[in-house]
Amino acid sequence: MTRLLIIGPPGAGKGTQAARICERLNVPAISTGDIFRANIKEQTELGKEAQRYTDAGNLVPDSVTNSMVRDRLAQDDVNNGFLLDGYPRTVAQVEELDSILEANGTHLDVVLLLTADNDELVKRLLGRAQDQGRTDDTEDVIRHRLDVYDQQTAPVVGVYEKRGIVTEVDGLGDIDQVTERIMAALAS
Ligand code: AMP
Repeated sequence: MTRLLIIGPPGAGKGTQAARICERLNVPAISTGDIFRANIKEQTELGKEAQRYTDAGNLVPDSVTNSMVRDRLAQDDVNNGFLLDGYPRTVAQVEELDSILEANGTHLDVVLLLTADNDELVKRLLGRAQDQGRTDDTEDVIRHRLDVYDQQTAPVVGVYEKRGIVTEVDGLGDIDQVTERIMAALAS
C-alpha cells in the first residue's frame, strides 16, 4: 500500500503528518499547496496565477492544478509510490487523477481522512498564522477555506468512501500520537 492520499480540513495536520508518513514509507510527498507556495515565493508565472486564488482562500482552477500534478506524477521518483497531500480537492480533480493513474496502470490504495473539529481547526490555523505568517491564514480567509473544504472537498471523501478505501484517523492530540494512529491504521 504505497499510493496514498491524505485528506482533511485545513489545520487538521496533513502536512506535518504527510512528512512523517513519507519518511517511514520511503515515498515522496506531493503537496499541491507546497508546490504553489514555492512558485509564489519565486514569483514564477504559475505562482503569480495561483496567488490570486490562494491569498483569498479559493481553490486554484483545475486547469492549472491538474496539469501541475500530471507533470509531477510523470517523474520517476513516484514509481514506487507517493503520498498526495491536498490533491484531489474537487470531484473533477478525482476524475483527472483517476485518468492519470489509469494511464500508468495504477490506482490509489488508501485515502487517509484526518479529522478535527472546527473550533480546534480555527485555533490551530490562527496559531500557524502567527508562527509562519502565511498570507492565507487570516481569520476571514481561514473561515472561507473551511467553507470551501465543506463544499468542494468533503464530496471527494464521499467518492472514495464508495470505493471502500477511506481510513479515518482522529487528528486531535499530540503529533507523535497521531502519527502512531496513522501507522496503525495503515497496517490494519
Ligand atoms: P494547502 O497548503 O493544501 O492548504 O493549500 C493552500 C492553498 O493552495 C489552497 O487554499 C488553494 O488555494 C491552493 N491549493 C492547494 N491544493 C489545491 C488543489 N488541489 N486545487 C486547487 N487549489 C489548491
